[in-house]
Amino acid sequence: MQKDNIMRDDIIKKTENLHHPNEKLVKTHCSYCGMQCGMNLRVDTTKNEIIGVEPRYDWPVTLGKLCPKGVTAYQQTNHDDRLLKPLIRDDASLKGTKEGFREASWDEAYDLIAKKFTEMQAEYGKDTLSVFSGVSMTNEKCYLTGKFARVALGTRYIDYNGRFCMSSAAGGFLRTFGVDRGSTIPWTDIDETDCLFIAGSNTAECHPTSMFRIWNVLERGGYIIVVDPRETPLARRADVHLDLKPGTDLALANGILNLLIQNGHADDDFVANHTNGFEETKELVKEFTPEHTSMLTGVAPEKIIKAAEIYGKAPNAIVMFARGIEQQEKGVDNVSAYTNMALVTGKIGRPHSGVATFTGQGNGQGGREHGQKSDLLPGYRSIYNPKHVEEVSKVWGIEPEEMPKAGVSAFEMFELMEEKTIRGLYLICSNPAVSAPDLNYVRKAMKDLDFMVCADFYLSESAEYADVVLPAVTWAEDEGTTTNLEGRIIKINQAQEPIGESKPDWQIQVELAERLGKGKHFSHLKTARDVADEFRLASKGGDADYYGATWDKIDKQDGVFWPCKDEDDEGTPYMFLDKKFYHPDGRAKIFALPYRPPAEEPCEKYPIRMTNGRVVYHYLSGNQTRRIKFLNDMAPEPYVEVHPELAKQYDIEHDEKVRLFTRRGRAIYKVKVTEIIRKDTVFVPYHYGHDESINLLTIAALDPISKMPEYKACAAQIEKINTKDGALK
Ligand code: SF4
Repeated sequence: MQKDNIMRDDIIKKTENLHHPNEKLVKTHCSYCGMQCGMNLRVDTTKNEIIGVEPRYDWPVTLGKLCPKGVTAYQQTNHDDRLLKPLIRDDASLKGTKEGFREASWDEAYDLIAKKFTEMQAEYGKDTLSVFSGVSMTNEKCYLTGKFARVALGTRYIDYNGRFCMSSAAGGFLRTFGVDRGSTIPWTDIDETDCLFIAGSNTAECHPTSMFRIWNVLERGGYIIVVDPRETPLARRADVHLDLKPGTDLALANGILNLLIQNGHADDDFVANHTNGFEETKELVKEFTPEHTSMLTGVAPEKIIKAAEIYGKAPNAIVMFARGIEQQEKGVDNVSAYTNMALVTGKIGRPHSGVATFTGQGNGQGGREHGQKSDLLPGYRSIYNPKHVEEVSKVWGIEPEEMPKAGVSAFEMFELMEEKTIRGLYLICSNPAVSAPDLNYVRKAMKDLDFMVCADFYLSESAEYADVVLPAVTWAEDEGTTTNLEGRIIKINQAQEPIGESKPDWQIQVELAERLGKGKHFSHLKTARDVADEFRLASKGGDADYYGATWDKIDKQDGVFWPCKDEDDEGTPYMFLDKKFYHPDGRAKIFALPYRPPAEEPCEKYPIRMTNGRVVYHYLSGNQTRRIKFLNDMAPEPYVEVHPELAKQYDIEHDEKVRLFTRRGRAIYKVKVTEIIRKDTVFVPYHYGHDESINLLTIAALDPISKMPEYKACAAQIEKINTKDGALK
């Protein structure tokens, strides 16, 4: 270990010496996924301009690795598409298009927003306004957005795009452990484990810089079990690939748990002393024999038996999962069901064993902890808890009675827009016109709003529905913290001043709050560090306590794992080492979860299972990555993956265009004939906008707890549309 450090220091020194005197390196992290890979942005100091990037070998999580998105992330900042001035739309009939905007001053934009918001609230009440935000922002911005909604606008309706991403993991962890931290261990523990059980994660494309650690498990003689309807690069090399039908995870997890118990792999002491719910669960899973589980999931019984044997016998094992299991109408149950495996075998609460989710968005962890969710306040406090409301009200300088009540989840806000309960929207750092399910419904709801503001650094598909667009900054033009997929709080540093007239979201919200007559609660926030100081204070004493995570400590320690309660606290890399879970009795909950099928099963009219996911070149709705030339050249359009047998059945060929449709919508895609997909399932990448968006077809069946839509499973049909000469019918 000592030798490694000497080598690291040496390499860093050499790297620094290679730079031109007019160039400086700004230590920061990638703007995209939850890996938050370490990088140095290269800045031309003569122009104060970012000119490139290099990986940071000294960042312990990814040790100098960057994926194609990370290598090109810096190209967002000075991109030709950047919004440089506020835009105002004078002609509402052009909503839903890029047309009809004119440039305006900040004063004019603020005046218009303040006037419209004030008038609307006077006529329809405070809750006629809503805030829809995102978690690709810093913790400080996420925190302030919650305060902006509840104090400056005084509305209950705030929610965020984590409902489309991480909310099932959050809901599952919360009810199982009593606390929601996405990983119970640091990522470096993958290096020491004996077995990885990875469900619903195309890790090689979605979190590629985890792969060197994952492959090392195999190199060391360890085991990898993968659950996925597709033979992803990870599944291809796995010891066992459990190729289930989309939406049947609950049956698979119950089947494996049954075998773990029947074959003597339960840790009786751990179960007796640190958990509740075992006996009931043991009874419930008995019916999930390998044969019954196979019938429900489509996975061969021998594979299920082998997977249970490997996981059960492994001295240390980590259960990992991602959106494949979480973006379902039973996403929370899936998370709890797979987590049951770790609890029953006692493979949690110790190094090299545990449970982790691959967080999708850059700050998917921190962004959900500090008040953007409809029912949460900073520090993971509950808006239903009067003591929590009082604590936060004190920091915000309001009376507890002034705190708005809980609102509704992201998709439910669109339902309230449709019925005109909500008439105004302030949209930040999110692109629901691409990323929400059942898009025909959602786009109409946005189009019918009386007034909509969008803050973004590009004119996204969602900004096309706005009346006012405010130019925000990219991550490299501001500073603050994010929390990566381990629960490690890290520092994002400013590499360049904001271009044009763009401003950071926190500054926009402070200035807007002043226009709305709420300056006394916001005007003291002059810098991002001011927001950070207030944010740390607001989190103090909550489960997600960031108070001790000062920027200096983050710098010194290569990040700080929460909870971190005070200045002497170094943070908490390992959760539950003392076997104390966060429920009042200190025990974790093992859940007995009966199987239920996807909300929409295949039928005669829609006989095919449809699922979707990412490709390595794009991030989320593609608003950023589709503008980066290299990334767009590599993945310029969506496609539908079809198994050769299904292609034969429909008489369709590779590269032929087909119409894919569901009960909700239709879209035309080029066919990619491939054996990596199940014969009964098709797959489409979800990063594309307008008519190419797969979310025109997806279903908004919501998980009852997390309110996560069932993106990953619905019933579809294919229509052949090409004539022999290639012309569309
Ligand atoms: Fe790392 Fe994710 Fe950025 Fe790729 S997109 S460089 S994996 S943070």
